[in-house]
Amino acid sequence: MDNETLWRMVLSDLEQQVSKAVFQTLLSQTTLVSFDNQIVTIACRKPLLINLIEKRYYDLIKKIVDSYTKSDTRLVFTAKSFPHGEHAAGPLFTLKLPERIEVQRSVRLNPDYTFENFAVSSSNQMAYAAATAVANNPGSSYNPLFLYGGVGVGKTHLMQAVGHFVLNKNKNTRILSCTGEEFTNEIIEAISTKTTTGFKKKYRHLDMLLIDDIQFIAGKYGIQEEFFHTFNAIAQVKGQIILTSDRPPEEINKLEARLQSRFEGGLTIDIGPPDFELKTAILLIKAKQRGVNIPTELAKLITSNVDNIRKLEGVLLRIITESQTRGIPLDENLVRSVLGKVIKEAPKKNSIAPEKAIQAVAAYYNLKLSQIKGTRRDRVLALPRQVLYYILRSELGVPFMEIGELLGGRDHTTVLYGVRKINELLSTNEKIQQDVLGIKTKLFG
Ligand code: ADP
Ligand code: MG
Repeated sequence: MDNETLWRMVLSDLEQQVSKAVFQTLLSQTTLVSFDNQIVTIACRKPLLINLIEKRYYDLIKKIVDSYTKSDTRLVFTAKSFPHGEHAAGPLFTLKLPERIEVQRSVRLNPDYTFENFAVSSSNQMAYAAATAVANNPGSSYNPLFLYGGVGVGKTHLMQAVGHFVLNKNKNTRILSCTGEEFTNEIIEAISTKTTTGFKKKYRHLDMLLIDDIQFIAGKYGIQEEFFHTFNAIAQVKGQIILTSDRPPEEINKLEARLQSRFEGGLTIDIGPPDFELKTAILLIKAKQRGVNIPTELAKLITSNVDNIRKLEGVLLRIITESQTRGIPLDENLVRSVLGKVIKEAPKKNSIAPEKAIQAVAAYYNLKLSQIKGTRRDRVLALPRQVLYYILRSELGVPFMEIGELLGGRDHTTVLYGVRKINELLSTNEKIQQDVLGIKTKLFG
C-alpha cells in the first residue's frame, strides 16, 4: 500500500471515530510525510494545530496506523509547513472551503427534537415551563437558560425544541446550535488561521445561541474568555442564550468566577431522571415517530425491563426491525423474545468481583494494576480509568462511593463524572463501544 492510500484509509477510519467538527478542523488537515522504519511522520496543513493533534489523538492515530501496517509504529508530528504542490488535492481543498463554512453555519437541529415530541412529567416540568417561556419571549425572560442533568434526561431535546419553535415563528431568526466542544475547536481554528474576525461575526451577531454540554470549556481559560465576550455581545442586544451541562454551574470545576455569576444571573434548572410513566410515554412517542403503534401494555412491559432512555430506544429499534425484517406481528411474543435476548446479554451483576474488572480493564489497555489504581494524573490513564468506573458501576452495580474507595480513595464525584462521560461517549464513539464490548467479553465470556 502506498503512503497516499494508507493515509486515506487512516483518515476515513478517524472520521468514523471522532466528531465531525474535530475531523474537519483537525484531523482532515493532516498529511503523511513519510513512513520509514516504523516511523510515521505526520504534518498538518495548518502547522499551528500540530501540537494539539499530537496531544489529543496520538493514541488513536497510532492504533489505526498499526492496524493497517501490522507493526508497532512511532508517530512523529512535524510542524514543518506543508510544501505547496506536494498534494494534488490542493485546489480541491480551497474549493471545498466555502461549502464547509456554509454547512457549519446552518442551524443543525434534530428534526425530532420538538416540543410536540417532548413528554412532560414531574422530573422535567420546570425545565419544560422555562423552555416554553423562553421560546415565547426569547432574550427577555431568562438569560441564559441553563439546563443540567444526567445523560439521556432530555436536555438536548428541550434546548433544540426552543430553536425549532423560534424558527417556526420566524425563519429568519439567526440561531446557532453547537456543542461546547465544537465551539472550542472553532475558536482554536480561528486563532490558528487568523480568522477571529469571522468567528466574532458568526457568533456575536446572533438572536439565539444554543450550546450543548458547556461543561466542556471547564479549565480552558482562553475559550472561556471568548465565550464571555460572545455571551455579553449577544445578551446586550437581547439575544437568547441556552446552555446545557451535565452538572450545575457551581459544580463545573475551573470555571471563571465571572462566567459562573453570568450563568447564575439567568435561570438554572435541573432535569431529573424520568420515572416509569415518563419513560413509557417517551417510548410511545419514539414508536410513533417511526410509524409504529405500540399498545400501552407492551410499552410498559418494555419500560419495566430496560432502565435508561438511550437503551430503551435501542430495544425499541430492535423490536421494530425484527418485526419488519421477519414479517411477524409486533406483539407480546416478539417483545418477550427481544427482551429475553437483551436481558440474557446483560451481565449477571454482582457475580463478579470488582478486582476481576480492574484486572480486565488494565489488561485490555496494557496497563499495570498500579497504574490504573494509582492517582497519577496522566493523560493516557484518564480514559481507561473512566471505562473502569463505568464497568464497575454500570455492569457490576458497585456504588459510586465504593468505587472511589476501591481505587485508592478517589472522590466519588470524579467517579460519577467518569461514568457519565463514558455513557455519553458510548452513544457516539465507536472506539469506546469496541473497548467496552471487548472488556465485557473478557469479563463475562
Ligand atoms: P441529554 O441531552 O439530556 O443527554 P437527550 O436530549 O439527548 O438527553 O435525550 C435522549 C433521548 O431521549 C432523545 O432521543 C430524546 O428525544 C429522548 N427524550 C428524553 N427526554 C424526553 C422527553 N421528555 N420526551 C420525549 N423524548 C425524550
Ligand atoms: Mg445531550
